[in-house]
Amino acid sequence: MNNTSDHPAIRRLIEGNRRFTSGLRSVEPMMAHLRMAELAANGQKPFAVVLTCSDSRSPVELIFDQGLGDLFVVRVAGNVVAPSLLASIEFAVANFGSSAIVVLGHTLCGAVNATIKHSIDPSQPLPSPHLEELVGRIRPAIESAEREHPISHPGFLHHATLENIDRSARLILEQSRIVRELVAQGKLTVVGALLDIASGRVDFLQDAHNQIQNRKETAHVSA
Ligand SMILES: [Zn+2]
Repeated sequence: MNNTSDHPAIRRLIEGNRRFTSGLRSVEPMMAHLRMAELAANGQKPFAVVLTCSDSRSPVELIFDQGLGDLFVVRVAGNVVAPSLLASIEFAVANFGSSAIVVLGHTLCGAVNATIKHSIDPSQPLPSPHLEELVGRIRPAIESAEREHPISHPGFLHHATLENIDRSARLILEQSRIVRELVAQGKLTVVGALLDIASGRVDFLQDAHNQIQNRKETAHVSA
């Protein structure tokens, strides 16, 4: 499947996001409380896993107009990949048969912006070792963006945010054997997406597996 939007799970998310940005809501999320007992008795079967930022303007179920039991959401500032986050993703895809992993970044991300600021002026110490660790996970995306755009450019935050989404999607594939095997079997796709926090619109990016394949092919051609 080459076109991201052809994937049934991604199509469902795109349609839900269209409803959200049009001010519409499906009835299911509003009636979610009625499904709680059924889901508790029969178990969950979320159709997609979403790794996204903790930002309060990125409420996943709302922006995709999905209900209880539909999405397995992993949230961390800067939508970075670290062992416990990867374990959460693996737990979901291994147990619930979710057919898509979406890495959802967003515009004006504070975590990406803080990393840019720290890259510009590393003499300013970060307030805690935990924040140092988080910034360290975003920094490689800043360095990738810097290879194509000057860090002082007004659009740099946008470029770095896209790099950070791309990097997390690639890391999930590179670091998780479980994910790679499911992708190879055609049971799972890993996709990046960007939420515009001003409009609520989500744009899906190219399938991460295809991106890696394209890169390998390009490297092969140029070698
Ligand atoms: Zn953020």
